[in-house]
Amino acid sequence: MPAFDVAAVRREFPILGTSVHGRPLVYLDNAATSQKPLAVIRRLERFYAEENANVHRGVHRLSEQATSAYEAARAVAARFLGLADPRGCVFVRGATEGINLVADSWGRAHLRPGDEILVTHLEHHANIVPWQLAAERSGARVVVAPVTPRGEVDLDAFRALLSPRTKMAAFAHVSNALGTVNPAAEMTRLAKAAGAAVLVDGCQSAAHFGVDVPSLGCDFFVFSGHKTFGPTGVGVLWGRPELLDSMPPYQSGGDMIRKVDFDGTTFREAPERFEAGTPNISGVLGLAAALEYFMPIREAAHAHEQALLAAATERLRAVPGLTVVGEAAEKVAVLSFNLKGAHPHDIGTLLDADGVAVRTGHHCCMPLMKGLGLAGTVRASFAFYNTMEEVDALVRAVERARKMTA
Ligand code: PLP
Repeated sequence: MPAFDVAAVRREFPILGTSVHGRPLVYLDNAATSQKPLAVIRRLERFYAEENANVHRGVHRLSEQATSAYEAARAVAARFLGLADPRGCVFVRGATEGINLVADSWGRAHLRPGDEILVTHLEHHANIVPWQLAAERSGARVVVAPVTPRGEVDLDAFRALLSPRTKMAAFAHVSNALGTVNPAAEMTRLAKAAGAAVLVDGCQSAAHFGVDVPSLGCDFFVFSGHKTFGPTGVGVLWGRPELLDSMPPYQSGGDMIRKVDFDGTTFREAPERFEAGTPNISGVLGLAAALEYFMPIREAAHAHEQALLAAATERLRAVPGLTVVGEAAEKVAVLSFNLKGAHPHDIGTLLDADGVAVRTGHHCCMPLMKGLGLAGTVRASFAFYNTMEEVDALVRAVERARKMTA
């Protein structure tokens, strides 16, 4: 593998050269949202400067061009997920909308009273609340697989909770709060053997390593564009096309219909069935630019991030009073920690004064934090454009914060 040239990569991300409070920005909040390369910024500009038109409707040149670029982006999204057939890729607003779509539409078609939806204790709220609402609507119930103190899903408990009542198993590929990589293929295999459908929330995996949906074997996979170096307001829900076609529309209006009549309306198949109205065209094109940028460097990026994670974990562990939260055997470069006697928000504010951007709090994982007996954590989350010098800056800022809060 060629050496990963992080300096060259950073030149592609203009924001990384900026300052905060007079200090160079050290951006370690990538799990919340990633920064965008020039390829994405320029794609958005080009679309609005030279190509803007609505898709799927016009016979004029610009509209036809926009439509083919939009459909080409669908093929890019499919390739990104290891899929040959783009038909199952639905463009949505983000992972949240993707999960809501499945919980609502698949839930209406498939959930009945007494059914169970299996999630895990480390889910983001986006993969809990839509299932609670689907359970309320259908009379099903949400069942929760526990997480060990190291932050790994208890696989034996997960297996034991599966039964013929389980109609859906929905779980994160990677925990946003702890960085744990779940054995998603194995969990999928177990759930499918019990007869359940499987949704994998890939929000935190897609930006860190190559995702191959066919080898996961799941029925649905979601990720957000903005966490994968693309624009906000766009993401992908992949579903097995035949399953998507068995589901009722989620939203309705233009573009998703075959024929509208006051005597009755018929709907198109997936993916159009689930893309009512004018989509986020520029966002979709920007996302395709992001995925095209990221795919060739994905493997080297992962290795670089793992080196950053190992160094940061070792260095932070040596800080007196610091506890690393989440010590799964397999992790992406997400490092959650607490400092004895200090509130995570105070640490976050002190780090910000040094130009170091981290996230603090429950990370939209209140049940996980409650289970771990914590109010929250400080979370440093890395991307491939972060450097060993930034690990140094983080450690220096944490040391300073420790002294100031002692
Ligand atoms: N799932 C996970 C694991 C996440 O980390 C997030 C966002 O942090 C989401 C779902 C929701 O993503 P979005 O807000 O982009 O819809």
